[in-house]
Amino acid sequence: MGAAALVVLVAVGVWIWHDGRRDARQPSRPVSVVLITIDTLRADRLGCYGDERAATPVLDALAARGVRFPNAIAHVPLTLPSHASILTGVTPLVHGVRDNTGFVLGSTFPTIAEQFRIAGFDTAAFVSGFPVHRRFGLARGFNVYDDRFPRGEDPARLPYVERRADLTVAAALAWLQRPGSDSSRPFFLWLHLFDPHAPYEPPEPYLSRFRDRPYEGEIAFADSQIGLVLDWVQRARPQDPVLVLATSDHGESLGEHGEPTHGLFVYDSTTRVPLILAGPGVPAGRVVPTLARGIDIAPTLLDLAHLPPLRGAEGRSLVPAIANPEAAGDEPAYVESLYARLGFGWAPLYGWREASWLYVEAPQPELYSVAQDAAQVRNIAAVQPAEATRFRRAVAAAVARGRPVEPVAPGRDVADRLRSLGYTSGGPVANPSLRDPKAMIEVAVRIENAMANERSDAVGAIAEFRAVLKDDPANPVARRHLAIALSSERRFDEAIAEFRRLLDEGNGTRETLISLSDSCRLGNRLEEALAAARKASEQDPTTPDGADAMGKTLVALGRGDEARSAFEQALAAQPDDPDALTGLADLAIERGDFPEARRKLEALVSRDPGDTAASLKLGVVLVRMNELDQAIARFTTVVSTRPSNAEALTNLAGALAKSGRPAEAVPYFERAVEAGAVSPMVLNGLGFARFESGDAAGAADALKRSLRLKPGQPNVAAVLKQIERRND
Ligand SMILES: [Zn+2]
Repeated sequence: MGAAALVVLVAVGVWIWHDGRRDARQPSRPVSVVLITIDTLRADRLGCYGDERAATPVLDALAARGVRFPNAIAHVPLTLPSHASILTGVTPLVHGVRDNTGFVLGSTFPTIAEQFRIAGFDTAAFVSGFPVHRRFGLARGFNVYDDRFPRGEDPARLPYVERRADLTVAAALAWLQRPGSDSSRPFFLWLHLFDPHAPYEPPEPYLSRFRDRPYEGEIAFADSQIGLVLDWVQRARPQDPVLVLATSDHGESLGEHGEPTHGLFVYDSTTRVPLILAGPGVPAGRVVPTLARGIDIAPTLLDLAHLPPLRGAEGRSLVPAIANPEAAGDEPAYVESLYARLGFGWAPLYGWREASWLYVEAPQPELYSVAQDAAQVRNIAAVQPAEATRFRRAVAAAVARGRPVEPVAPGRDVADRLRSLGYTSGGPVANPSLRDPKAMIEVAVRIENAMANERSDAVGAIAEFRAVLKDDPANPVARRHLAIALSSERRFDEAIAEFRRLLDEGNGTRETLISLSDSCRLGNRLEEALAAARKASEQDPTTPDGADAMGKTLVALGRGDEARSAFEQALAAQPDDPDALTGLADLAIERGDFPEARRKLEALVSRDPGDTAASLKLGVVLVRMNELDQAIARFTTVVSTRPSNAEALTNLAGALAKSGRPAEAVPYFERAVEAGAVSPMVLNGLGFARFESGDAAGAADALKRSLRLKPGQPNVAAVLKQIERRND
């Protein structure tokens, strides 16, 4: 059989497969598709890519029943731009999203989700990291776009930035199994897991098992969670095989080239990713060495699903290469990183990856022979001038055809959340130094380390940022983070001066305005805070953050009605915005409007059931509304997940006592005391509850302890006297 005939057969494989199994009268229909992106996953950390110490049985099994591409390249080592390429089939040169911040995917680029939806598929995305929050434009085409990142419990972390794989997978499974769903309708599901991204903190048992390799532990955990989804898919629809593609948006440098994580460079350490495809129409156990690219993913999935290609896609379907790996030629992969340019004012990196070469256009150009130098450490640009010139021309032509780099001037208030994930925030850089990033890697690492310690060691971070600015005075990121660290040390006047300098020098973004507003508010310069927040809100009314900053400042100014309308404005921009819901609930509690507080708190809890603070506040509101049974149920739920949360235990005990169930209240009061809630109020509650349930001696103990803590409580002393008299 010739290559062409084989291609045709593979291309129609989906239909042949169905027709062979189905009742001929029943029309065959397209297969469902699951696209899995595991963030920050180096190909060479999977068992099927040769890592003998890996614990990735699910992805290894997927490769065994499908095809594996050993040479798959992501175009950019940054989450948002890389996912934009995966979903649109075009490189950053065309879709224009060059960094995680300052860019939103334009509505003119058709996405794979839109294509599936037009074809009648049910489409849903479950994502796990803030860089792919809906505000960045990737949600288009998805009927459901679930980016509900929980608040989290760690005070050293910013809330609402990421979601662990088990929570994202649980949400995806709930959607797959939702009641009333039409099981005959094909679906397109995008599952994005963020766990391998730094910091590396896998849950048990992976933490213990991978104590010296926590990055690999995160990968093993993600692999196990993917297994739950693939198991369900196979169990629930055994007659409807599902097409599954697993890949990553970029790798992780892990110290190669001096880079700890990813973002700065475009070597294979951060651009080579796994790409595994299995399901109907895909042969089992095949390894396809063709260079596969991020932009090829959408065309390949649409081809296998028999849907029309995406308009304007630059990528190609890999189906012919799967059918006949030997006959398929390679298409080069354009790679870039503008992270250093947009964040630090250093030179941008543009590159060209072919099967046997990597070329990087930089102040000092780089050329590597991939075959002889897989680690890409011997730059041979000077000894291979003809090759280097050929690549330089190719890169220059591609970049010239691409869109100009235009960070959205009203940047989003994403800097804080991205920073907590280890990213600097890009923006306009008025006078860039255009230094070569590889000559500056030590400075980049110093900035990255100082950023990582910003919350735990702000004093050290301040010293480090000041030192960096001495070496690289035009570096806006270092100045921005100096200001942020100063603010977290409550040195607000100094912080405000640095934020103002950024704005004055033309290096400020909308985030700078919001940070400035926060520092002014916390430093009690409320009118300045309000002015900065208002300006930020006017620059971009489509995101809630400016209005939230206005609301918080107006609360501090005691202008409750205006604060309320600011928070309402934030909520209009994003209906589940947690800051606005919290602000409106607090304002409602303050004016005694408990039904309104309840509605807002219920919205908060339903978007994030793990938000303990909101759950407790909701319980207290229910107590105030005399809905004691519901309050008790609410507190019980919190106690069941946080068994030593003193506030939850106290509230539960109090609500039980209040509803005439003192005997049930006693053990929770006791646990609250054990958990550290040793206050006269709790001890009195314990004393009265014990007394009412017949334990006079225990009651006396608790009340005595309360009086020792706070003498001069005449009512308590009187009750204690009564108990002691009765005992005599
Ligand atoms: Zn990423």
